[in-house]
Amino acid sequence: MTRPDLTLEQAAAIGRETFGIDGAARDLGSQQDRNVRIDARGTSYVLKVSGFDVDPEVLDLQNRAMQHVGAARPGWVPRPVPALDGREVVPVYSGARGLFVRLLTWLPGTPLRGVGYFAPAVLSAAGGLAGRTAAALADFDHPAAARSLSWDVQRVGDVVAAVAPQVHDRKRRELAERVAERAVAALSSHEPNLRRQVVHGDVTDWNTLARLGPAGQLLPCGLIDFGDVVRTWRAAECAVAAVAFGTRSPHRTVQDAALLLQAFSAVARLDEDEVAALPAMMAARAALSALNCAWQAEQEPKDGYVTSGATESWRRLVILAEVPFALAHAAFREACGLRSSTRSPTAARTSGAALVPDLDRLVAVAVDLSVTSVLLHGGAWADRRQVEQVVETASSKNTVPIGRYGEARLPCDFGSTQDEPATVHLGVDLFLPVGTPVMAPLPGRVAAADRHGLVLDLDGVGGLRLTGIEPAVLAEGRVAPGDVVGKISPARMQALLPAHLHVQLVPSSVLDVPFLAPASLATAWRAVCPDPSPLLGFEAAVGPPEPQAVLARRRRHVASPQLLYYSDDPPQIERGWRQWLYDVGGRPYLDVINNVAIVGHSHPHIEAAAVQALRSLNTNSRFLYDALGRFAERLVALLPAPLDVVFFVSTGSEANDLALRLAREVTGRRDVLCHQSTYHGWTTALIETERAAPGVPSADESGHVHGIVRPTADPASAQRSLEHARRLVAELGALGRPPAALITEPVLGNEGGVVLPAGHLQQLYAMVRDAGGLCIADEVQVGYGRLGHHFWAFEQQRVVPDVVTIAKSTGNGYPVAAVITTSQIADEFGRHDDLFSSVGGSPAACAVGVAVLDVLAEERLQENAREVGYYLTERLRSLSQRHPVITGVHGMGLYRGIELVRQEDRPAPARMEAGAICDRMRQLGVIISTTGDARNVLKVKPPLCVTHDDIDTFASALDVTLTQGW
Ligand code: PMP
Repeated sequence: MTRPDLTLEQAAAIGRETFGIDGAARDLGSQQDRNVRIDARGTSYVLKVSGFDVDPEVLDLQNRAMQHVGAARPGWVPRPVPALDGREVVPVYSGARGLFVRLLTWLPGTPLRGVGYFAPAVLSAAGGLAGRTAAALADFDHPAAARSLSWDVQRVGDVVAAVAPQVHDRKRRELAERVAERAVAALSSHEPNLRRQVVHGDVTDWNTLARLGPAGQLLPCGLIDFGDVVRTWRAAECAVAAVAFGTRSPHRTVQDAALLLQAFSAVARLDEDEVAALPAMMAARAALSALNCAWQAEQEPKDGYVTSGATESWRRLVILAEVPFALAHAAFREACGLRSSTRSPTAARTSGAALVPDLDRLVAVAVDLSVTSVLLHGGAWADRRQVEQVVETASSKNTVPIGRYGEARLPCDFGSTQDEPATVHLGVDLFLPVGTPVMAPLPGRVAAADRHGLVLDLDGVGGLRLTGIEPAVLAEGRVAPGDVVGKISPARMQALLPAHLHVQLVPSSVLDVPFLAPASLATAWRAVCPDPSPLLGFEAAVGPPEPQAVLARRRRHVASPQLLYYSDDPPQIERGWRQWLYDVGGRPYLDVINNVAIVGHSHPHIEAAAVQALRSLNTNSRFLYDALGRFAERLVALLPAPLDVVFFVSTGSEANDLALRLAREVTGRRDVLCHQSTYHGWTTALIETERAAPGVPSADESGHVHGIVRPTADPASAQRSLEHARRLVAELGALGRPPAALITEPVLGNEGGVVLPAGHLQQLYAMVRDAGGLCIADEVQVGYGRLGHHFWAFEQQRVVPDVVTIAKSTGNGYPVAAVITTSQIADEFGRHDDLFSSVGGSPAACAVGVAVLDVLAEERLQENAREVGYYLTERLRSLSQRHPVITGVHGMGLYRGIELVRQEDRPAPARMEAGAICDRMRQLGVIISTTGDARNVLKVKPPLCVTHDDIDTFASALDVTLTQGW
């Protein structure tokens, strides 16, 4: 079938003469028909033009199907518009050529074509769209629907046989033939049970229209192009959509398809056979598309629409060729709530032999290599010597140390990756001496053997893979129970684990079974490779982690205002190491949130200091012990005169609350200035600074805390802020209530790292001091070397505060906070009051505080913040040049705010998008959050031990997100 040729003028003329609409015509591109948009007096239409080689009955079928779906789902699909003579399919002549034309209403929405990424919510919506379409068409039929279509998965065998020989590209042809052959074989057993009906047949990203949803994603809202309507398998509607929306990597394809299927099946339930046939249907669809598109592209090499379709369908086929049907089937069953049908070798074991001599006598001792293992700390899981030691400790004459089935292990490479790493162990490891003989447990056949192990096909059980051994038998030979099949070989050079026998049940249908699976697919892989414990005679498995139960417990018992990151689907984070966080499935994430862990998570030096102190003494600061004075001495040494004494507390809120109290008691005043809506802590006194919002007109109407208009880095805005401050100070003076203090972050961290223009704080401080108030610098977030160029943020503004508050980084996560001021102010406060904090300044807090300062200095982390910060600036600058949504990069060193503004008719803060971007970044292995009044600023404040490589990881995840979508 060739595409009809027609000029836009001719199309406009048809619109006018045949349908009575007068407007400009624009080409829309298509694979089969010719589609032209006509805009006529505020209403838009699509003129669909087909050649005379198209059966008009088929065009009628399309129109009727559209009307049928439209009746069930108004506004979802285009409507056919009758011509002036009432017909909906009209033959016209353009020169000597005959054409059929149809006019359809224009459906509003953004096409999803070209979007490189579909979020889980989008996949579910696409599955729902396909499911509802199939459901709407379930009671529809038409004589032309039984047509034979080269895109129909039902016909994969015939179409491939007919089209493949015409495709010159050998590589593509052969791959498509191979995939199709596998699909046909798999489909044949289900075929008699597959339900048939009319389907749209082309629910793809190309044909789906979307609109911006509440979570910042483009959500499917409409379906066009009924050109492939056909009577075929009902499940094909789902398979087509799954291939179109979810082909990224083999693993992701299974996950994405499972999500889409779940939503499909919720509205158009698929039965056991349909679910079982779905993986093969997807493969069949991919093979058909790749071949048909390749053929079309060879006919029309200059048509960009056709050639880009060919490239895309080839990419999908390459990925789908790698998807094991058994895995997809297991995942799909799980998605549809069907029980997994795992085989179990239990019965067989009772009549069999032990895998290794004396196994029945040995006590299995689990070596905990999991994320929550208490045996492996400080990166030890990646150190062969330390892992060996842990195994050694579990081994004795009467024991066999084992690595458990189903355990999510910490990956031995540090760093986070965009693809989820494989971490869940699909077999059991038996750590035994090199040379230990390994026996066949049951009768069977040697299915395969190589230098590292073999696969036995055991009668009544199926595949058993034994690796880590030197095989003593050849492939294809028979084995009887007790036959020695090999002996344990020395561990390989690069292996992390010492010598061991790896025992894994494998299906004979999957050639390349992995040893480890990504946690998100672990349930499906567990169904494919079940627990071999029954073969061993002892329990060697751990159940999957249950983050949902953990979440439910938290929801039940933890007060709801204590919020969660990623509230809908939070990762269960159970370990931190340096700049990485690990979820319970062993996935590492680059941590871009935790400014508190300034020297990195689980730092051994900090741990040692805390342990030592907790083992010796932990009491309150009214006792005399050395640590308190030593820590105070270290802090004061970092500050300019006259800041020379320290109050110890535990949190930033306490520190700022105490700072306000100092100022009020020392000055005998109550009123305080801050910047409008800025956060300094959660105490009753401090929450007022957050509530000192814009719109509170004058001093006397706003209680005792008065918000100054917040400055930005822009000098004009900073000037306006100073003028407002001057007015407030004057008003307060006139009311006889001059301010006790000003409290502010010297760099506005919570606003996304706003660095104030030079001299700004000097002027503000002078104003406050002239009025007799004190100046409090909140260094809780921005101090302690994070800015790279300065240890304290107030240094950037060349001011010396009267009071400095510190917390967060001070204890690297352990509660350590302080207020540093002058002895004059402290003594004056002491004339009225004293301070007692039960745990502030405890020996352990002080030991940790000193250890943090030691590590900061020894590891030159402030310098690192500067150097890596430069690199971050460079990377962000280049990203902002390519992605117009980035309208500003604020901050310095390793405190950054990336401002996102939606570039539509009128620029608007991209709040929803920023949230969705964070979700997508998490999938790509980066944990980041938003800030700012409109929550449209991505806040970058990682531990200071991040490296240039981490910045690359971060920048590339952001680039992928902004390029492919979220
Ligand atoms: N000041 C600033 C600038 C902060 O960002 C925070 C915490 N986000 C605090 C004070 C309060 O610190 P804490 O949570 O330790 O009480």
